[in-house]
Amino acid sequence: MSKGKLVVISGASGVGKGTVLGIMMNKRKDLKFSVSATTRDPRPSEINGVHYYFVTKERFEEMIASGEMLEYSAHNANYYGTPRAQAEEKMRSGSVLLDIEPNGAAQVKKAAPDAVLVFIMPPSMEELEKRLRGRGDTPEDQIAMRLKRAVWEMDQRHWYDHVVVNDSAERCAEEILKIIAD
Ligand code: 5GP
Repeated sequence: MSKGKLVVISGASGVGKGTVLGIMMNKRKDLKFSVSATTRDPRPSEINGVHYYFVTKERFEEMIASGEMLEYSAHNANYYGTPRAQAEEKMRSGSVLLDIEPNGAAQVKKAAPDAVLVFIMPPSMEELEKRLRGRGDTPEDQIAMRLKRAVWEMDQRHWYDHVVVNDSAERCAEEILKIIAD
């Protein structure tokens, strides 16, 4: 029997999801991060098995075919997905945080109607672009692609259970912790 709930956190690339999730997990040690699989290259600071499982396209497609993915999506010219087994294992000891985009969020909601879906908005579009560039780890052609996608992603917020604004990562983390408190 699972003990925790699935908490989906979405928001455009550069909105600060990683920072917000980090603060939440620092404050609530029982919260676990669902480690996604992806075919994109690791960034310099990323560790395989911690931030993502970095896999080949062939391996990813194998995982889809064998039903190993709870959800997945192809975006930013790569595959991203949630391996089912690690999410279910983590749910046995508490709630699990999924940092996934709207196509995946919709699949989770269908598979697990009790999941809580939270969408993080930037304070403004200008601020989002500034943060995305300021991060310094995303090539320029990727930035344009991600900004275009950000507009579509933000349009999806209406069917999420909750929409929060990341005006301050600390405040935003507190707001989400209150939402998932019970
Ligand atoms: P990044 O390449 O910046 O790490 O992530 C790009 C986007 O992919 C983010 O919006 C993130 O939420 C999303 N993403 C990361 N992992 C998954 C996943 O397992 N499934 C889905 N559907 N999206 C994911």
